[in-house]
Amino acid sequence: MRILISGAGTAGLSAGIDLARAGHEVEIVERANVLRANGSPIDVRGEAIETARGMGILDAVHEHRITMTEQTMFVDRSGAVVAPLAMQEINETPDDIELPREDLMTILRQTLPEQVDLRFQEHIVTLVDDGDLVTVTFASGRQSAYDIVVGADGVHSAVRRLVFGPEQEFTEHLGVYVAIGDVPGQVTPGTARVTEILNLPGRLAGVARYHDKALGIFEFRSEPIDYDYHDLNAQKRILAEAFAGIEDWQVPELVKTVQDDPNLYFDAIAQILMPSWHRGRVVLIGDAAHCATPMAGRGVSLALLGSWTLTEELGRHGDDLAAAFSAYEQRHRPHAAAAQEFARAGADLMVPATWADIATRNTRLRAAQPL
Ligand SMILES: Cc1cc2nc3c(=O)[nH]c(=O)nc-3n(C[C@H](O)[C@H](O)[C@H](O)COP(=O)(O)OP(=O)(O)OC[C@H]3O[C@@H](n4cnc5c(N)ncnc54)[C@H](O)[C@@H]3O)c2cc1C
Repeated sequence: MRILISGAGTAGLSAGIDLARAGHEVEIVERANVLRANGSPIDVRGEAIETARGMGILDAVHEHRITMTEQTMFVDRSGAVVAPLAMQEINETPDDIELPREDLMTILRQTLPEQVDLRFQEHIVTLVDDGDLVTVTFASGRQSAYDIVVGADGVHSAVRRLVFGPEQEFTEHLGVYVAIGDVPGQVTPGTARVTEILNLPGRLAGVARYHDKALGIFEFRSEPIDYDYHDLNAQKRILAEAFAGIEDWQVPELVKTVQDDPNLYFDAIAQILMPSWHRGRVVLIGDAAHCATPMAGRGVSLALLGSWTLTEELGRHGDDLAAAFSAYEQRHRPHAAAAQEFARAGADLMVPATWADIATRNTRLRAAQPL
């Protein structure tokens, strides 16, 4: 079949690998001009480990393994350590693998079969499904027809908007915003590779360190904010406002430095909840279908697993797309639902709302893993 994938994130690249290997003719369009490989380290967990083995990338994933999150310490306003981040709060099994997001993106890009047509700076503008084919018009003006269109274009998916309806119909804000960006100079020879996090009521500011890299990480509780999510300057302004007046620890310096990162990652922690992930010849995978948020730590695992399941079900059901998509959804939905459920407790773990909540959390973590 001729398959178009919108988005070259972990879901789009994984689907490109799996579907091309299954014998389909695959084209991927990515809106950005490069692979978007920034962000904090991610995890391959649970059943996704077997999926990675099936894709032939498990050894490479292991080679790039880091233990950044295991080295996470909560600090007080002076920077003194007050509690560790006990791993049983986060991991499914001790086999879970953490690796830099950029390394996983490189592994997937290198594994993508040569025959996959990967086009940057291109995106879908219109899409018409006449029952036999989906005719797509792209931003470049090109028009082409496909048997299937796969929306793998993330939490703000354009395919979802064009086929299923406006984003707000499917979005549930978890009441927190996140920002992540480079903070060069935070790793010097002799620096311990630990991640330090300061909590103030409803606020988190931290430095995550791995290899020779340091990332500034911020989270803050807030009602939904009305802004253009493509507008980097608006994102920087919102971040600065959220931490304005806080002089503790290294917060002012971190907020200032992270704003110089042209690839600053900023978004609402919001889940995508949809009654169905497919309509006609169009199907959604990854965050476009079921974003669980970074609080889940399972976005990449769901992307790998979902792409694999979709490919298997297309192989099983041949031309009966409705049956293939339904089977994919039936098998994959419990994984997505579990990750979304897990994420709902994330705000209380990572961004407690009050001083009392911070103290209770720290006591619990120290009991689980004494300092
Ligand atoms: C830059 C970035 C940084 C991230 N950092 C973190 C992090 O630190 N921690 C974490 O837990 N999760 C992070 N995520 C989310 C995480 O990558 C996903 O939860 C997970 O990998 C599932 O990926 P996905 O492919 O479904 O979505 P995404 O990773 O969001 O990938 C979607 C891709 O689609 C592209 N795209 C968007 N719109 C269009 C369009 N209209 N047409 C074509 N392409 C389009 C995007 O540029 C992107 O490459 C980040 C995502 C991005 C894009």
